[in-house]
Amino acid sequence: MTFSDPFQPPATPNWPNVGLRATLPRLKVLEVFRHSISRHLSAEDVYRALVHAGESQGLSTVYKVLSQFEQVGVLTRSELGQGHTVYELADPSGQRHGHLLCTATGAVNELHLPDLEEQLRTVAQAHGLELTHWSLTAWGRPCGKLLATHPSGTLP
Ligand SMILES: [Zn+2]
Repeated sequence: MTFSDPFQPPATPNWPNVGLRATLPRLKVLEVFRHSISRHLSAEDVYRALVHAGESQGLSTVYKVLSQFEQVGVLTRSELGQGHTVYELADPSGQRHGHLLCTATGAVNELHLPDLEEQLRTVAQAHGLELTHWSLTAWGRPCGKLLATHPSGTLP
C-alpha cells in the first residue's frame, strides 16, 4: 500500500493522439495542473489560478476543458463527497488510485492499492459485468498515531 506518492507530472499529451487540438484554453488549463503545488484541483481552483495568472478563460470554459481532458484520459476526475469534485493529471501508466481524506483538515492522500482493480474486475465478472471504471474514496479522522513510512511512501 502506498500513500501520497510524489507528484510525477506526465509528459505533454500528444495532442493529435488524444483527439484534441492544442487550443490556448487547453494549454493554459494544462499549465495550471503542471505547475500547481496541489495535485488535486477543483474547477474553481483552476479558474482562480487562471485569474491569478491574468488569463481570461471563464469558469464555463474551464469546466468544458476539464470534461474534454477527462474524456480523452489526460485528467482523471474523483468525487470526494459532498459534491466536491477534483481533477488530476492522469498517471501515464494508466494506473488508477483511490483517495483517503482527513475529516479534520480536508487533506487528500492517495491510496495506491495494486490488487484492488484486479479484485474489482473479478467481482464484476462474478456478477456478469465487465469493469469499465471505478472510484474509491475513504475518510478518516486523526487518531494520534502515524505509522512510519519508507521514503518511497510505502508502509512497512
Ligand atoms: Zn489522486
